[in-house]
Amino acid sequence: MEEAIKYMAEITAAPLMYGRRIQKETGRRVVGYVCSYTPEEIIIAAGAHPLRLFGPMGELECVDTHLQSYCCSVVRGILETGLKGDADFLTGMVFPHTCDSIQRLSDLWRINVTHGFHLDLVLPVKLNTDSARKYYLDVLRRFRMELGKKLGVDIGDEALRKAYETLREIRRLLAGIYELRSANPTLLSGDDLLTIVKAAMIMDRREASDLLQRVATGLKAKIEAHKSLPESVNSSPPQEKEIKRLVLAGGICNHPRLHGMIEAAGGAVVWDDMCTGARYFQTAGPGIESDGSTAAGKGDTMAAIAERYLNREVCPAKHNGLTSRAEAIISLVREKQARGVILLHLKFCDPHAFDYPYLKNALDRENIPHLMLEIEDPLPAEGQLRTRFEAFLEMF
Ligand code: SF4
Ligand code: SF4
Repeated sequence: MEEAIKYMAEITAAPLMYGRRIQKETGRRVVGYVCSYTPEEIIIAAGAHPLRLFGPMGELECVDTHLQSYCCSVVRGILETGLKGDADFLTGMVFPHTCDSIQRLSDLWRINVTHGFHLDLVLPVKLNTDSARKYYLDVLRRFRMELGKKLGVDIGDEALRKAYETLREIRRLLAGIYELRSANPTLLSGDDLLTIVKAAMIMDRREASDLLQRVATGLKAKIEAHKSLPESVNSSPPQEKEIKRLVLAGGICNHPRLHGMIEAAGGAVVWDDMCTGARYFQTAGPGIESDGSTAAGKGDTMAAIAERYLNREVCPAKHNGLTSRAEAIISLVREKQARGVILLHLKFCDPHAFDYPYLKNALDRENIPHLMLEIEDPLPAEGQLRTRFEAFLEMF
C-alpha cells in the first residue's frame, strides 16, 4: 500500500511529466481538462487519456500579461501552463462552462494557446429541472460527436460502456477508502488521501483502479492487524480519541500539506465536499447492463453519465435549489460525526465566496463551529496556518 501511495504522490507532484510519458509510451492522445464536470468517460471511450490540469505551484512568469492578478490561482496557473508551452503534448483541451473564471480561461486558451483542439462544454447552470435533464444529455451527446470529430474516431457504445464501468469502479474504490478512513482517521493521512484522489484524475484509469484496490486492501489489512492485537493494546491510540473530526468544504485543494497542518493542530478531515475530494467520486452512477440498460431503465450510457452529474452534490458554480449545498454539508457533519467545518476558499474564487454568507448562517443555526479559510498559492507560512487551525479547534 505504501509503495502505491508513494508512486501516486510522484505522479501528482509532476502530472505533466506523467501525461507526456503516457503519450510517448502508449501513443494515446492526451486530452486536458480543468473541472470535475468534464465527462472523462467520453474521452476514454474515444481512445484518449483524460488529464486534469491544476496549474503549477509557485511563481508564475507569463500569465500577468493576459489575466488580472485578481483571479483564482488555479485558473492563472493553468493558463501559465498553456502559455509556457508546458502542455504542448496535449491533443486538445476541454472547458466545461462552470464558473466565470473557467469560462474566461477557455477564451484565453483558445486565443493564445495555439496547439491542440479546444472544446467548450456548455452545460446548464440550473440542474434541478426536467428541461435541465434533457439539456444536459443533449450537451453530452454533442460533446461526444464533437470530440469524435476532433480525434477522428467514432466513439462506440461498447467503448463508452467499458469506460463508464472503469470510472464507476474507481469511484466505488475511492468511496470505500474514504469510509474506512472516516471510521479511523489515523489509518491514512489526509495528505495521502488527497494524493490518491488527485492521482485518479491524472493516471491511466486502469492503473489507478489497480492501485486504489491495493490501497483499499492495505487499509483493511491494517484494520485486521489492529483487531488481532491483545486486548491490553487493542484500543484506539489515546491521541485518536482526542482527534477533532472535521468536514472540509470548498473548491480545489492544491496544497499537498494542508491536511497535515490540520492534523498537527489536533484535527482530522473525516469527509469533504471538495472538487479535489468527494465530489469527484460522489455517486458512482447507475450500473449499466451489457445490453446498455440501467436499473433506472434509462437505457443508455450517456443517460447514466448525465444522471450522475445531476444527482451528485453541486459546486456553487451550479444551482440545485437554494439550500441544497448547506443541507448536504450539515448532513455530512451529522453522518460522519464531525464537530466542525472548515470552509476552504481559494482567494478570488467568486462562486465559493458568494456561497459563504448563506453557508455561515446555516451552520450557525445548527450550532456547528466553522472556520472560513481563504488561501492562495503560495500558502502562508506553515506556522501561521497551524495557529489558525489550533485556535479554531480550541473553540470546541
Ligand atoms: S469547484 Fe466547481 S467550477 Fe471549480 S473546478 Fe470544481 S467543479 Fe469546476
Ligand atoms: S470555482 Fe473557484 S477555484 Fe474553481 S476554478 Fe472557479 S474561481 Fe477557481
